Amino acid sequence: MPRPTQAIIDLEALRFNYGLARDRAVPGQAMAVVKADGYGHGIARVAQALASDAPCYAVACLEEALAIRKAGLAHPIVLLEGVHAEKDMSVCLEQSLEPVLHSDMQLSWLRGIATPPVVWLKLNTGMNRLGFEPRDLPALMARLDQQEVRVRGLMTHFACADDLADPFTQVQTAVLEKAAEAFPGLLLSVGNSAAHFRPEQPLFHWSRPGIMLYGATPMLDASGPELGLKPVMSLVSELISVRTLEPGMTVGYGATWQAEIPTPMGIVAIGYGDGYPRHAGTGTPAVVNGTRVRLIGRVSMDMLAVDLSSVPDAQPGDPVELWGGQLGIDEVAASAGTIAYDLLTGVTPRVPRVYVN
Ligand SMILES: *Cc1c(COP(=O)(O)O)cnc(C)c1O
Repeated sequence: MPRPTQAIIDLEALRFNYGLARDRAVPGQAMAVVKADGYGHGIARVAQALASDAPCYAVACLEEALAIRKAGLAHPIVLLEGVHAEKDMSVCLEQSLEPVLHSDMQLSWLRGIATPPVVWLKLNTGMNRLGFEPRDLPALMARLDQQEVRVRGLMTHFACADDLADPFTQVQTAVLEKAAEAFPGLLLSVGNSAAHFRPEQPLFHWSRPGIMLYGATPMLDASGPELGLKPVMSLVSELISVRTLEPGMTVGYGATWQAEIPTPMGIVAIGYGDGYPRHAGTGTPAVVNGTRVRLIGRVSMDMLAVDLSSVPDAQPGDPVELWGGQLGIDEVAASAGTIAYDLLTGVTPRVPRVYVN
């Protein structure tokens, strides 16, 4: 018998969420962001599931793009961080990958290439992480034109799009629009998932939905389901042991939680070695037999403890959901002091991904 810990991945929900992004991107299109192993869902299966809906994928790096090619998909792929070595520019050309250039070093790698790949340019509009300054764009475009490099478009990334009350997104959008005025032939791409949920936010030619495809929220003040998204991953396991803790007994490392009254307690076969967050403290929700319970004590590498007071008849072998269709991942992330992005991309290879629909 295999260990009962699994990530069940609902590909129909993934397609549904992509459809929502696509509808919001109209009149533009939505490139499906499948970096970080499809946000932990398995890049090959995610890309295949979206193949007839999404016209283009976006990934962080070349290795991820090659995983999509290996899965037999010929769609255009945008490399959001460009490439990390000169020789990879020719791989981009051979494999029809479109690197997003953000630095002079990457530009210099185009110089020696007979036929360069089609590229995007990353503009820094306020994230101040990567990208060229808007004032340098005219000179940059002239230089690329001279080198016969075809520029597909301009890309920028928002710093605060998750917060509807924060006006910085409008500022960044205006900076990009102004820089783009002189180059009407270039496509524009600004929208991460959060931008799809901002009223009045233009998404221009290509939006770049990531987290929303997987059903988790990109916003500060709403959960995925509240935004109309369907959860894609359900992280499940089983109770492997049940016992009653008498008053004064503690559970787990550090003996951090102590029973005050007789407390039925279950041990679940999942821990931080599976990517379940160790920072999820006492009180973090889970679901046993369809009923909500709370974690107690510290999460171990291979197991964690739950208070079964709300399901006193629970038995070893009973199903446990750590997040998914019955318990929103956004709520678990908040309990662990993090965001769903972190939880989803953190599920380790030990957890088998099981695909449904
Ligand atoms: C990861 C990433 C996205 C997707 O962001 P989400 O918040 O997951 O939608 C979009 N654009 C760029 C440049 C990214 O790196």
